[in-house]
Amino acid sequence: MAEIVTRFAPSPTGYLHIGGGRTALFNWLYARGRGGKFLLRIEDTDRERSTPEATDAILKGLTWLGLDWDGEVVSQFDRKDRHAEVARQMLDAGTAYKCFSTQDEIEAFREAARAEGRSTLFQSPWRDADPATHPDAPFVIRMKAPRDGQTVIADEVQGDVTFGNDQLDDMVVLRSDGTPTYMLAVVVDDHDMGVTHVIRGDDHLNNAARQQMVYDAMGWTVPVWAHIPLIHGADGKKLSKRHGALGVEEYQVMGYPAAGMRNYLARLGWSHGDDEIFTTAQAMEWFDLSGIGRAPARLDFKKLEHTCGQHIGMMDDADLMRELSAFLDASGQPALTPVQDERLRAGLYCLKDRAKTFPDLLEKGRFALVSRPVERDDKAEAALDSVSRSILKDLTDRLRGASWTREDLEPLLTAMAEERGLGFGKLAAPIRAALAGRTATPSVYDMMLVIGRDETIARLEDCAP
Ligand code: GLU
Repeated sequence: MAEIVTRFAPSPTGYLHIGGGRTALFNWLYARGRGGKFLLRIEDTDRERSTPEATDAILKGLTWLGLDWDGEVVSQFDRKDRHAEVARQMLDAGTAYKCFSTQDEIEAFREAARAEGRSTLFQSPWRDADPATHPDAPFVIRMKAPRDGQTVIADEVQGDVTFGNDQLDDMVVLRSDGTPTYMLAVVVDDHDMGVTHVIRGDDHLNNAARQQMVYDAMGWTVPVWAHIPLIHGADGKKLSKRHGALGVEEYQVMGYPAAGMRNYLARLGWSHGDDEIFTTAQAMEWFDLSGIGRAPARLDFKKLEHTCGQHIGMMDDADLMRELSAFLDASGQPALTPVQDERLRAGLYCLKDRAKTFPDLLEKGRFALVSRPVERDDKAEAALDSVSRSILKDLTDRLRGASWTREDLEPLLTAMAEERGLGFGKLAAPIRAALAGRTATPSVYDMMLVIGRDETIARLEDCAP
């Protein structure tokens, strides 16, 4: 079978939003899972709205998501001469024609059509005109679209979608200033780049009908079409900012790990049996167009968090620390000091399985990050009444001579709780407060073992009566 080539073709008019990230991911998974190529084309023909900052944001977003592309990034604008060349080839082949109609004439045509209750789709009088009658005046090049019959888009997601050709006018492929239209540029680029599969949002389904006509006119092989339903908000409505229609880098700043994000985005509109949590390698192996649903997927932050939590739990410690430090940087927070880094790394075993996001990991790992005197929240303060403080004093004395292993610490604390007739929770609460400044923390043993004897005793002494 021929090599699979997919592409992601964003317009650089803003950040890479979550829907774009998912489209890119689907294309990437499809190609990478089949030993194919994944290409990146920036559709920057709209000079007014395209900015280099947006291109940078898109590349950054893709990079954060871990979606690497093959070869150079293609600029659509840079290829405008090639697009114009194809328009002229169509002209030569008689599949396109010069149209000299002015805007006023087109408007007049539409008004008359409206008045007579006919279709307002423009029908140019130049379609079949003898070139000998052409005036020396500005013209556009229009495609000579078939007027009868139907255009069928054989879509891998939507099934066969039929368009009556009487609903499609002779679209302009080259403007009077010699610049190509977007609709022509997409087809020429996809053809020249060898794209075999066009996977994109279903807001482009109508465009596909017109684009297919260009393929046919040029005698080019039509790519496999897969138009995926857009993402909706949790309430089933069109995605807006309020729903989380944010740039993907915002998700990095919110502290979602990229692997979790890939997993969640893959499941957003695609499924593989009942599998919810999977690695990127599995997604590559399993991803197929037949698994894409026809109903719009809903963005669900609870599920995103759950998925991300599972991935934090699965991550290798070194990778986790690397990504955490990228998160701190991206969210404008100071980097960890060497001591914080060392303690947090040592504590990952008791934190990884519980944290859903990086901020959550940092909060749960607070005991590893704080330095003395430990700042306490109100609940922690309340756990340190005078009785508790005297208990901590007693504990500190006992800990001084203890050997610092879980096997020795556990019986020591249990025995002390029993002697004093305290439930273990009553003993643990002030220890949590003293060591982490919080009342919800990992187990007291884990904290003590991670920060070590000296630091434990020092923090406990800070709370002595
Ligand atoms: N540039 C288009 C967009 O950002 C995508 C075009 C395509 O995928 O064919 O919506």
